[in-house]
Amino acid sequence: MGSRGTAFRTTITSEITRTVKVIVRHAAKCKDKDKGTAGPRCQCAKPLLIYEGDKKANRRVSAKTRSWARAEQAEQELRDSWDPRLKKLAQLQAKKEAKQVRIEAALALYLADMAAPAWRQRYCGDGPFALWPCRG
Ligand SMILES: [Zn+2]
Repeated sequence: MGSRGTAFRTTITSEITRTVKVIVRHAAKCKDKDKGTAGPRCQCAKPLLIYEGDKKANRRVSAKTRSWARAEQAEQELRDSWDPRLKKLAQLQAKKEAKQVRIEAALALYLADMAAPAWRQRYCGDGPFALWPCRG
């Protein structure tokens, strides 16, 4: 096991080194092809180059755009999706919104029930467990 210690540690922390950057694949006839990767305005493909430390390999994915600015945006979004704190924040936000929806739905149901005379008759009374006074 000795030499596998490092790999084991990597697995349990699940912190994988990943990098992403926009690259450009200029067409042979592109007039910007000598400008390299410094934000060319040409219409050549601008995929994202992803390096994953666990696989020790690069892979290329389409940014689904030929605009440099939008490719950089895709790059940033991907990087954010890897950030455990941002991911957590997004999850918390989603949870909070889901809870909000549940409260609103429950309130709507409650108000609908309160408005229904049948509900008041069913639950009315004078005892300690009465939800609604029968008079009124
Ligand atoms: Zn180009």
